[in-house]
Order: sequence, then structure tokens, then C-alpha cells
Amino acid sequence: MTVTEERTRTYEVRTYGCQMNVHDSERLSGLLEDAGYARAADGEQADVVVFNTCAVRENADNRLYGNLGHLRPVKAGRPGMQIAVGGCLAQKDQGEIVRRAPWVDVVFGTHNIGSLPVLLERARLAEEAQVEIKESLEVFPSTLPTRRESAYAAWVSVSVGCNNTCTFCIVPSLRGKEKDRRPGDVLGEVRSLVELGVLEVTLLGQNVNTYGVEFGDRLAFGKLLRACGGVDGLERVRFTSPHPAAFTDDVIAAMAETPNVMHQLHMPLQSGSDRVLKAMRRSYRAERYLGIIERVRTAMPDAAISTDIIVGFPGETEEDFQATLDVVRASRFANAFTFQYSIRPGTPAATMDGQVPKEVVQERYERLVELQNAISWEENRAQVGRVLEVLVAEGEGRKDEATRRLSGRAPDNRLVHFTPAEGEPPRPGDMATVEVTYAAPHHLVADAPALKVRRTRAGDAWAARESAACGAAPGSAPAAAGPVALGMPVLRRA
Ligand code: SF4
Repeated sequence: MTVTEERTRTYEVRTYGCQMNVHDSERLSGLLEDAGYARAADGEQADVVVFNTCAVRENADNRLYGNLGHLRPVKAGRPGMQIAVGGCLAQKDQGEIVRRAPWVDVVFGTHNIGSLPVLLERARLAEEAQVEIKESLEVFPSTLPTRRESAYAAWVSVSVGCNNTCTFCIVPSLRGKEKDRRPGDVLGEVRSLVELGVLEVTLLGQNVNTYGVEFGDRLAFGKLLRACGGVDGLERVRFTSPHPAAFTDDVIAAMAETPNVMHQLHMPLQSGSDRVLKAMRRSYRAERYLGIIERVRTAMPDAAISTDIIVGFPGETEEDFQATLDVVRASRFANAFTFQYSIRPGTPAATMDGQVPKEVVQERYERLVELQNAISWEENRAQVGRVLEVLVAEGEGRKDEATRRLSGRAPDNRLVHFTPAEGEPPRPGDMATVEVTYAAPHHLVADAPALKVRRTRAGDAWAARESAACGAAPGSAPAAAGPVALGMPVLRRA
């Protein structure tokens, strides 16, 4: 049986982990729709369930095998159902997945996501599991069909892989060495997205600012930002995540001088202790990190800077931890993604001496969160009274019936809940100009009615898709099928 002979088979992709995986899942959806599958409606059991896994998060494998266990009886009662596992954990565990969960049909790796439809078909015909893991990238994934999750904001990969060897990180062994796309390909994708109505792109790379290392241009990333400035209709450019060791002043200048590049920087710190940074094999020191922040703030005083921090890395002393708190105080991050160190099998740090007891890690973590929350709140209070243009988002924040509040993102990516003016409310993808009236630690509120609404092509696209989706027959392919679909432009951490 082929997928087109009977009713359209449906799929669901479950995503874990970082932006890379979120974007890879858009490609998996695009590939499946290209092959004739339709996205399963909410609450409906899909014929094909794909897990796009992450090996970085704690207990990632327990969670995967738990979820696979839940699906086992579902699959037993549903002939023809298939389960596929891809992503970093699949790249790491390979055949182990079908040994532990023999009801899985397909295992594919980070380097061959384009093979998924073929592997599903092969598993169906052969009636046995197909495990295919490649050790290096076959095709740069951006050439694959993509079902975008947002009509107004899009991820654009500039590179994949990483040439560093941070001792806590499994990524280099699973994603391979850095591979860069050519600037013309990146800009071509950006332009076609803008033609479809997209207003905001986030340039994506494991170390986005080392872009160019493969084709020998150290200044390529700054040039790329400036080139994005020349794309008509592109209103917001962001990027994630830069590595402090590779951060160069030309990037700061490009950010400051290119009007559509947002004054927002997410730059992982990981630790403020030079001793710990060395043990992590992070090749910058606290002084360099703070120097970058200072130069960014000099060039862009309104910049919102965020970070990632790991607490309790092996060997971290109270003194080391105090050094992290010092950098946090000096940096005045708008927000920070804070993690408690825990062992990741397969990483050098997993077998290091000096693993910090869990209760010590917990106590330090709580102190760090308390400090950062206080700073985030102070920084947010400084926004009260400011007039901001907010890109209205869908699915983010709350749909508050009582207050009619909508949500969106400020230019610096702060989350803003705002009250629309009477009349027709702005649609996701439209721009609303609002005045901030209240600040909470992790969001802003604009309670007075929006001062102005700018209707955009992205909002038109959202409305067209919404009405098409309402008219779609149950079980038919979703109206949003195609290169751009609806969703939310959440900026997730790496
Ligand atoms: S933490 Fe980032 S820079 Fe370090 S090895 Fe992992 S992906 Fe590369």
C-alpha cells in the first residue's frame, strides 16, 4: 500500500531540545507532507509518530523510552501505525533504540533527516525496523522541504555542527564539525520567506558567529547581518547563539548600524569563574565576556542581553560560584536560562573528579535564580513608560478573556501582554504600538489600549490560513500545509 492509495495517512512530530531540533522538526513535517502525509488534528492519534530527540537534557533517554512505552499498546491496537525516532539521542543510541523498544519502526540520525519518508516506506514493505545513521551530513538540511511553524517569524540555519569541545556537551559528537551555508543560499532563503510575508528571521547556528570558518572568512557573520539589512520587507533579524570566544567587534558594529537587526543578544556565559571555564574547555574568560557586554552596551544602550549558566560543574567551589554571581551582577542580564549541572554520559565532564553534591548544586542554583530574578525585574521596571512596537504572537502567553489581552514580542524580544483598542483586534503577525504600564520579572504589561496597529502581510497570511483551516474537511490535509504555516515565534535556548 502506498500513502496515496487509501485515506491520507497522518503524522505527528514530537520535538525535544533546542532551536536546531525545532527547526529540524519543521523540515521533518515538510518532508512528510511532501510525501503525502497530513498533520494529525489536535487530539487525534496520528498514523506516524516521529520523536525528534535531544541528548543534552537530563533524563532525555528515560523520557524517550517512557514515551515509547506509552505508545506500545496504542500501536498494537492500530494496524499500520508507525513510530520513528530521530535527533541527537537517535544519533547516540542508534540500534540500541530498537533493542530496547522493538516496536519502533525507524531510527534515523541528525545527518540524514531527509531519509525519513523512504525509511518509513521501507519499514512498511519489509515489515521490519529500519535503522539508518550517517556519520556526516549528506545534504545541508535547508535544501529540504520545510513546513514552517509560523507565518511571521522563521528560523534560518546558517550553519550546523560545532568545532568546539566543551566538556559538558555531547553536541560535537552528534552533530559533527561545523558546516556553513554559502551567504547567497542563506540570503536566498531569507528573501523567499519575506516574499511569503515573514517579518522576522532568526539566524541559527550552534556557534552562529563562527559562521564563515569553513570558507575562510572570519568576518562573514557581520557581513551577513548587514546583508539582511538590505532585504526589503524584512523587519526584524535576530540570531542565536554566539560564542563569546569568537565574538568580534564587527558584529557589534553590524548590529548597531543595521536598522532591522534587533538590539538583543543571547550569549551563553556558562560560568563566571575562569577556573571552571577552563575545565569546561570554554576558551574565553570572564574579563573577555564582560568586555563584550560593555562594548555592546556602549554601541546599543537599549540592548537586552540574556545568557545560559550552568551551576555545579564538577570542581566548582563556593568561590567559583561567587565569581559567577559577580558576572551576573555586572552583566545585568534581561534574563538567564539557568541549569543545574548533571552528568551527561559520553561527555568528558561525566567522569571528572569533584562532582558537586546535588544539595549543594540545588542551593547555589536557588541563589542564582533569586539574584537573576531580581535583576530581570529591575530591568523590566526600567521599561515602564516606554512606547514599543510589538509583533503580535499566536499561541504565546495568555488569551485572557476577561482583559482581552493579547501577547507579542518587543524589538528586544521581551514578552509583552497588551490590551488592544476597541474594534477589530490585531492578528498574529500584525504590529501593535503600545505603552508599557507594568513590569513583572518575566513579562511586561501594556494595559492602556494599543496606540496604533499596523496591519501586515503576515497578518493577512495568518487570517487567510485561519479561514481556510476553518473550512477544511475533517481528515483532509490541513489548510496550512505548504511552506509556511501557523504557530508561535518563541525564541528557545540552545
Ligand atoms: S556547548 Fe556549544 S560551543 Fe560548546 S561544544 Fe556544545 S555546541 Fe559547541
